[in-house]
Amino acid sequence: MTDHASAIRHLRDYVAIPSVNPMGRVDIPSDWIGETRLAEFLYAQIRQLGVDAELVGQGQRQSVIAELRSSDPSAETVLVASHIDTVPVDGMKIDPFDPKIDQDRLYGRGSCDTKAGMASLMAACEQVLERGCLRRNLILVGEADEELGSLGVRDVLAQLETRRPDWVLATEPTGLEVVHAHKGVVHVRLEAAGRACHASDPSAGRNAVVDLARATLALEGLAHSLAEQVHPLLGSATLSVGQFEGGAAPNVVPDHAELIADRRILPGETVEDVAHQIQAALRRAGVEEEVRIVSCQREKPALGTPADHPCVQTCRQALKSASVCDAVGTVAFGTDAGVFEVDAGWPGVVMGPGSIEQAHTNSEYVEIDQVEAMARFFVSLLSGDPLKS
Ligand SMILES: [Zn+2]
Repeated sequence: MTDHASAIRHLRDYVAIPSVNPMGRVDIPSDWIGETRLAEFLYAQIRQLGVDAELVGQGQRQSVIAELRSSDPSAETVLVASHIDTVPVDGMKIDPFDPKIDQDRLYGRGSCDTKAGMASLMAACEQVLERGCLRRNLILVGEADEELGSLGVRDVLAQLETRRPDWVLATEPTGLEVVHAHKGVVHVRLEAAGRACHASDPSAGRNAVVDLARATLALEGLAHSLAEQVHPLLGSATLSVGQFEGGAAPNVVPDHAELIADRRILPGETVEDVAHQIQAALRRAGVEEEVRIVSCQREKPALGTPADHPCVQTCRQALKSASVCDAVGTVAFGTDAGVFEVDAGWPGVVMGPGSIEQAHTNSEYVEIDQVEAMARFFVSLLSGDPLKS
């Protein structure tokens, strides 16, 4: 079997194993939910290569970890994380779990985001182990819950303890571009508490919707000031009110209203910074008594590895060795590379086959030649040699 066929065979196997992130929903069939089926499949596959593996996490939400060690005691260690959850499959125009190949594309849920990353890595591991040419230590991670809360990364970090990589590569669809920076995401929930009364005499109460509307305008002002500060690579931080709810009936002055805002953060910005800015905006608008920040939660941190960091250069070199264009760039979406960088202090990049425009779509696919190129890249990275064609 050729190497190309090996990566694609793995990808077909992985797509055929549903690993849907329930994302808080209860209406998804139980045999589609969770990552454990795929984590166990990967665990068995790694053990067949003669390498020890571990499953971490609880119930249906398990992640897999394995370590491949070079005989060179001075070899650097790279952690490759390829999340094994997918988004749900509502409205898909293809059978999500029956992978089909058509015109050099492989279709199925997760084919692009990001089971192709793990399939390329597994094919590369097989070849490097078979040839006995491992020159970098590899910590292989297939983590759960990237699409929502990064539960899997937390389980993995707790398990790794003192085992520290020199850097991290998170596979996500970047069209094989080496991505070293992206924004992060914080969600902020605000709540206004008023005093209900009959709408025929509004002055007898305190209208929570009106107070929250004032807060909304204050957030809009804050958004304008954020737009004036431009990061050289990532543009500006942003703030957008995405949900607003309040009131129960036209003839009742509402005593409760709430909103959720989406704040995109730049590298170096923290949840505390965001909360502090919003509190100041509420104060300036004169509603700090009536409107409170209920929660300010990081969904994904930003990634800010310098473009000239050795790990970026190493990836470029491995791409060149694999005869792939060594483009470097940034993306607009958050990834688990940011979690590893901010929470563990490990620098990292994001890189993988396929286009983000295909991720989460109703006919998701990945280009087969990109998966093949990523496998060559991994062989080159792990061994210093490009994959045989
Ligand atoms: Zn992804």
